[in-house]
Amino acid sequence: ATSLQKSEKSEASPTSAADIPIQHTDCFIDGQWLPAASGKTFATINPATEQEIAQVAEGDAADIDLAAKAARRAFDSGDWPKMDARDRGRLMYQLADRIEAEIDSLAALETLDNGKPIRESRNVDVPLVIDVLRYYAGYADKIHGSTIPIRGNYFCYTRREPVGVAGQIIPWNFPMLMTAWKWGPALAAGCTIVMKPAEQTPLTCLRMAQLAKEVGFPDGVINVVPGFGPTAGAAVVKHPLIDKVAFTGEHRTAQVITRDSADTLKRLTFELGGKSPNVVYADADLDAAAQGAYMGLYLNQGQCCCAGSRLFVESSVHEEFMEKLTKLTNRRKLGDPFADDTEQGPQVDQNQFDKIMSYIDKGRQEGAECVSGGQRFGDRGYFVEPTIFDSVTDEMAIAQDEIFGPVLSVLKFDGSDEIIERANRTFYGLAAAIWTQDVRKAHEFAARVRAGTVWVNCYDVFDAAAPFGGFKMSGYGRELGEEGLKAYTESKTVTVAL
Ligand code: NAD
Repeated sequence: ATSLQKSEKSEASPTSAADIPIQHTDCFIDGQWLPAASGKTFATINPATEQEIAQVAEGDAADIDLAAKAARRAFDSGDWPKMDARDRGRLMYQLADRIEAEIDSLAALETLDNGKPIRESRNVDVPLVIDVLRYYAGYADKIHGSTIPIRGNYFCYTRREPVGVAGQIIPWNFPMLMTAWKWGPALAAGCTIVMKPAEQTPLTCLRMAQLAKEVGFPDGVINVVPGFGPTAGAAVVKHPLIDKVAFTGEHRTAQVITRDSADTLKRLTFELGGKSPNVVYADADLDAAAQGAYMGLYLNQGQCCCAGSRLFVESSVHEEFMEKLTKLTNRRKLGDPFADDTEQGPQVDQNQFDKIMSYIDKGRQEGAECVSGGQRFGDRGYFVEPTIFDSVTDEMAIAQDEIFGPVLSVLKFDGSDEIIERANRTFYGLAAAIWTQDVRKAHEFAARVRAGTVWVNCYDVFDAAAPFGGFKMSGYGRELGEEGLKAYTESKTVTVAL
């Protein structure tokens, strides 16, 4: 069903740990590089070759405790929150500048550890990281409360203060970008940080910590402890010196975090999964919609929380649309993520690969029609062909569960009344999109769909200024924009008798 070609490896492109220096594999705590207190390490794997890249310190509760104490000291001493806000912002700009200066090596490290094509790391991920840090750097000296007229002879005002020590736990799909989404607002607000990167992809976050040190961030402001979720992650969630947890990952993990944080009543923000509806009306620009559906699902090997994985196509254009979509899909170039023309790399690890392949089997068993892909690609690395299932119905597992891979479910619909109800028939609510030339349909959909982000005639348009987050089981709180910043502040009301 597919004419995918293996892309050529270009001569100069690095493809293994041997070509790319791995500078940091320890915990970064209080400005120092330290092995895990237990002495333990774990392997991080190159998903394109299944070979070990490096052994990384396996932090656990003891290391999180050191990191939390360092972050607490940096916060309580005022080293960070009381630094002149403009100087804090300037350090953030300097970090963004350093990342920009090292864009090629950081992009290579990201591609090595995660498997995403180098052209995406280089042209999408790292530029977005820089943009988010600069956006929030500009906010550092613009965080303020308001004066409030109240009854009686009083002067009442609010202050926006940093929430304190922020625990931050991130997944592996956009390792650097998730780091920046978390660091940006926390640092601007004056919080200090204990970060636990994903065990699959710790390397770029550790490198970013070193760059922060080199540009002059005070010790203890940023701490990074690699390790596993139930040990290091859980220790962040339970630690009494940590005030807030910002988490991105699966809703089941968020449920565990909610329970684990109950004793210390941490402030929580969650960015979780999705099964986002992408709705194509017959009156849409079908070429643009096909391109949007293609990119909205396959970007990042389908490992996007907001992937448009439920594609609803109006029946009258279904055939014409599928022709366009399968044509694009069958041309997709898989292969060495370091080759410049590769569009799709491997999935991040064996677990994800197995999960996706089992959903492909399930789709077939449930009676959906596999019209593109559906197989492993090659015999080395966790590559999965871009896969399209047609004739999918709402109740099938491939229409309900987040697959987090390059598997698209196509469903038909007829008319506006049914589509909004069906689009909302999911326990997720992260994103949704509609393709139509009819502004009435577009605005009605935007108003009635239960999702944190709605795209009209576009997909995956992100901006540091535009809030992002979920309804329902896709999380709570928002990241990015002013709302993302507020999630790192407490409001204090001061009332003065006059
Ligand atoms: P995951 O929940 O398994 O892991 C995410 C992080 O949580 C990892 O760092 C992991 O070590 C840690 N963790 C695991 N168990 C923990 C525990 N008990 N306590 C504390 N931390 C723990 O998710 P994943 O499979 O790595 O990531 C994929 C998920 O992330 C998908 O559901 C995806 O939709 C979601 N995601 C959401 C967004 C968003 O912005 N909404 C962005 C990217 C990914």
